[in-house]
Amino acid sequence: MTRITVAKGDGIGPEIMDATLSILKAAGAQIEIDEIEVGEKVYLSGNTSGIAKESWDTIRKNKIFLKAPITTPQGGGYKSLNVTTRKFLGLYSNVRPCMSLSPFVTTKHPKMDLVIIRENEEDTYGGIEHQQTDEVVQCLKLISRPGCEKIVRYAFEYAKVYGRKKVTCFTKDNIMKQTDGLFHKIFDEIALEYPEIENEHWIIDIGAAKMADTPEVFDVIVTLNLYGDVLSDIAAQIAGSVGLAGSANIGEECAMFEAIHGSAPRRAGQNMANPSALLEGAVMMLNHIGQTEVAEKVQNAWLKTIEDGIHTYDIYREGTSKEKVGTKEFAEAIIKNLGQKPSILKEVHFAKDAVLHLPKYVKKAPMKKDLVGVDLFVDWKGTDPNELAEKLQSINTENKHLTMITNRGIKVWPNGFEETFCTDHWRCRFEPNEGKILYKNNIITLLAKALDAKIDVVKTENLYNFDDKACYSLGQGQ
Ligand code: NAD
Repeated sequence: MTRITVAKGDGIGPEIMDATLSILKAAGAQIEIDEIEVGEKVYLSGNTSGIAKESWDTIRKNKIFLKAPITTPQGGGYKSLNVTTRKFLGLYSNVRPCMSLSPFVTTKHPKMDLVIIRENEEDTYGGIEHQQTDEVVQCLKLISRPGCEKIVRYAFEYAKVYGRKKVTCFTKDNIMKQTDGLFHKIFDEIALEYPEIENEHWIIDIGAAKMADTPEVFDVIVTLNLYGDVLSDIAAQIAGSVGLAGSANIGEECAMFEAIHGSAPRRAGQNMANPSALLEGAVMMLNHIGQTEVAEKVQNAWLKTIEDGIHTYDIYREGTSKEKVGTKEFAEAIIKNLGQKPSILKEVHFAKDAVLHLPKYVKKAPMKKDLVGVDLFVDWKGTDPNELAEKLQSINTENKHLTMITNRGIKVWPNGFEETFCTDHWRCRFEPNEGKILYKNNIITLLAKALDAKIDVVKTENLYNFDDKACYSLGQGQ
């Protein structure tokens, strides 16, 4: 018996959760439920996080959380509970299977059957943003080795346990050589540990185009947070409907399972909503807690019901569907089909020990780290980079000097192009003079000199070599 936390959420949430739980119960799921209140009521009671402290205690105690969609009230500084939950509980892996149910659910991609595994905690989703000058704002994209290792290993383990043949990595490492480059490098490293699984890498732009056009060539896709967020909605939609896709958010300790759609308030209370997406989330939950036989039974009964043409309004089509039903009746039809298998759609078999082997991250030995320069980011309202260079050269010291200025990453000094458009945000690189070593206090001296020369430094970034390899970007055109 596994104790789980359940939140019925808002809008259509309670109806689809009741339908889902009735199916799980009828299928013999060994679960006990602690129900908590999250979402609109909690937000509107003045709690901007949408969840009470006692509810966190329940989630952390039970570790498994089945959550219906909630309504985030518009405006007023309400925080998205989904994002908060993923980050607080360290749910680093977002798993979204997207499978076509053709010919019973209309899709242009009848052979599509892929799983998107999206990194869930890092990337620009740290939400670390700053305005630096009148014209320029920035968002920090943070990618970590542990973050990459955990998600890439998850993808390969998932493929192994669920009998998938190939893992494809999507990045944009031709442009972001450090961040996306690290993700790709770790993908290549970990792929070596899984010789039985095919692996490949695509640049995200052409990869996404290929996925939208010919999704059947992909099997498991692993990618960074932002790309995965966009791609997984596209994949769910082209498979048939976002209303059919479930999602698992997995961490080292806890896991949360849900539908990918929202609370559809306009459909609430009318016994209309399709519970399939939440049910798919629940099937992933059953697999996660080792109740694979029940998961298999529910999944096959659901496929059989879809195949029988018993459809809720969102997937009902004259010709292919046989009967338009409400939420409750759809659940009842699945319950009747428990123990049966689809005959045209592919029946599922979940491995009895469908448990992923996910060792905890082991910290690596520290790398050799040498300070080899500094970038000063300067707010300057002028337009001629030569003029700025002259100003900056006046603060050159005996052990370092200005070597480059870029604007939005493009080199504008020395030897820039007049045509390059410049904003008021300049990256000014100082590197050691021949034979000199740079120390941190040299940077402090440089900053003091900049202050005296009325140069408005808005931030600095140190340039490092790690294990004798330069680990910072050059200027475009350098
Ligand atoms: P939505 O996904 O709730 O609904 C969009 C449309 O999709 C609906 O009008 C409905 O026609 C259809 N739809 C969605 N789920 C369906 C289902 N199960 N059965 C049948 N039809 C379905 O998106 P939205 O209208 O943009 O958002 C509504 C609220 O949900 C917002 O407050 C939003 O913040 C919230 N939301 C919550 C989650 C979550 O809790 N995970 C995710 C997304 C949006």
